[in-house]
Amino acid sequence: MKIFLGDTEATLRLGITLGESLSPSSVILLEGDLGAGKTTLVQGIGKGLGITEPIVSPTFTLINEYTEGRFPLYHLDLYRLEPQEVAALNLESYWEGVEVIPGIVAVEWAKRMPYKPDSYLSVSLTYEEDGTRQAEIIPFNCAIAAI
Ligand code: ADP
Ligand code: MG
Repeated sequence: MKIFLGDTEATLRLGITLGESLSPSSVILLEGDLGAGKTTLVQGIGKGLGITEPIVSPTFTLINEYTEGRFPLYHLDLYRLEPQEVAALNLESYWEGVEVIPGIVAVEWAKRMPYKPDSYLSVSLTYEEDGTRQAEIIPFNCAIAAI
């Protein structure tokens, strides 16, 4: 499914819809170049979960956890990592809920992952020549009834 995103607000609104409708243990794997709107989409997801704390890019912190919403948001950015470094992080504990409260896991630069969860939502953001963006959403073994 392709969605036209005419401005920053549109990207935020798509994120809000996802944040309002996804269940805990959902994984969103985000693709798209620098500036495509990945962090903006996750900011919307946070709003949809009822998180009021500002959501900032985890490019340097690797992972930011927000726990004040309906359920947690785990926001990762793998841009600076090699796939073998990603493997060492044991990210599966997030989506398997092992010693972690189940929440939404949103991963920027997901192509750095050497393995993926059994079910996830793939969201690819592309930068158009006129500055607008497009999102292509593909569910893998999961439903997205709300969009
Ligand atoms: P990324 O995390 O993919 O690097 P960001 O979410 O940081 O990208 O967004 C980069 C810039 O693009 C921000 O200034 C944001 O406001 C803007 N932006 C996000 N979505 C859109 C859109 N649909 N149209 C135009 N600008 C957008
Ligand atoms: Mg980003």
